[in-house]
Amino acid sequence: MLLVVPRLISRAEALTRIREEGGRPECLMCAIAARRCGPVHAVHEDERMLVMLPRYVRRWGHLLVMPKAHVVSYDEVEPAQWLEASHLALVAARVIERVQRPRRCYVASTGSSAGELTQTSRHLHLHVIPLYEPDDKPTDIFSWSEGVFVAEPAEWEALRDAYREVWPEVAAACPPSMAGPVGS
Ligand SMILES: [Zn+2]
Repeated sequence: MLLVVPRLISRAEALTRIREEGGRPECLMCAIAARRCGPVHAVHEDERMLVMLPRYVRRWGHLLVMPKAHVVSYDEVEPAQWLEASHLALVAARVIERVQRPRRCYVASTGSSAGELTQTSRHLHLHVIPLYEPDDKPTDIFSWSEGVFVAEPAEWEALRDAYREVWPEVAAACPPSMAGPVGS
């Protein structure tokens, strides 16, 4: 795959770019899924779920999993929907491990506690983030205070294609049924 040294931009520049691309949507995740916030580099997509490369990242290779249904709390998310998202996060992490060979992957459901913001959303989603440095910590990965990496369209597309290429094989090797019944 294309070796990339993505470019670091400041948090302020990233926020300006995001607003220019998508304005201030009522829900950032719904707007992304509807392609109202610039290009979406989807690695896997069906009528319920979207797995994509976020375009403002702290670590190159980051994937994001979101249920397309607009749900903002665990009380309202359907268990089957959340299991499916979690399963896709597992596939995503395996895909990242296979392609990027990180030291580790973080898997985290984050999001905004302050209502809808420019760079984060209340809409439930999962981040799958590769770590390459032994001293990487959650504060390095989940804060934009040190800047955000961006890349050129061809670089995003090359990464997306590298992930898409291995996705079917990785997904076939860990079908959801391997998780077993819940609560039994
Ligand atoms: Zn939404």
